[in-house]
Amino acid sequence: MNGTVALVTGGSRGIGAATALRLAREGADVALTYAESKEAAEEVVTRIEAMGRRGLALRADAADAVETAEAVARTVETFGRLDVLVNNAGIGVLGPMDGLSLEDVDRVLAVNVRGVFLASQAAAARMAEGGRIITIGSCIALRVPGPGGTLYAMSKSALIGLTKALARELGDRRITANIVHPGPIDTDMNPADGPYAEGQTATIPLGRFGRAEEVAATVAHLAGPGGDYVTGAEFSVDGGHAA
Ligand code: NDP
Repeated sequence: MNGTVALVTGGSRGIGAATALRLAREGADVALTYAESKEAAEEVVTRIEAMGRRGLALRADAADAVETAEAVARTVETFGRLDVLVNNAGIGVLGPMDGLSLEDVDRVLAVNVRGVFLASQAAAARMAEGGRIITIGSCIALRVPGPGGTLYAMSKSALIGLTKALARELGDRRITANIVHPGPIDTDMNPADGPYAEGQTATIPLGRFGRAEEVAATVAHLAGPGGDYVTGAEFSVDGGHAA
């Protein structure tokens, strides 16, 4: 991926940080956004630069339409092009429907859905021919294994439709759009030693949580030459959770 430029939303921690580092290892210069974790984002940039690549940390709340578009614009201004967008930033608000407020609904849809649409729209307008849009969905969009997932599953399911529509709309510019559905992955959002871990592990044929790097590996494959003829597709990285 030498000479290419990627933007990873929510790249300060978890799956996004692992993806930013993996894309840099593959040769890309990488910009990443964060909402609050400035220090963590700058640490990821330091590690990208240690690999001999350029890195850029941008504060951009995915719920803010202006900041989201600006993050794309600043990436292009700084690095001169954009080849890969990874829509990773997301929040998990789970729990019984009667406990969810209107603010919860608006916030989850703003970050997990509207932010992804707006970042994809801004990126597609500036992306080089042959670019890639890779969105992080969820195993809870493919199957809903228990109660408490209404809002989160609704938000992540919307990304499947968006991905397929992007594939249709951008194919004539050889821009691909794909979605990766992680299963339970050990991050701050869903720690492998957290209170809900045991129940999740019981549903996974491979019997363990995944690592952020294991999701990043599939994203990197789609972002690189291996993804040339892959678009409109869904990929599970879930230890068999959806089997
Ligand atoms: P983490 O909570 O560990 O990290 C989330 C990242 O997204 C952080 O970098 C965070 O930035 C950023 N972020 C959160 N909200 C915003 C926002 N409003 N604007 C910009 N950036 C934001 O999550 P994971 O790494 O676990 O999850 C990454 C993606 O994978 C999400 O879309 C999630 O839904 C999905 N996923 C995760 C699974 C899991 O089991 N972990 C399973 C299935 C899907 P900051 O540090 O500044 O807060």
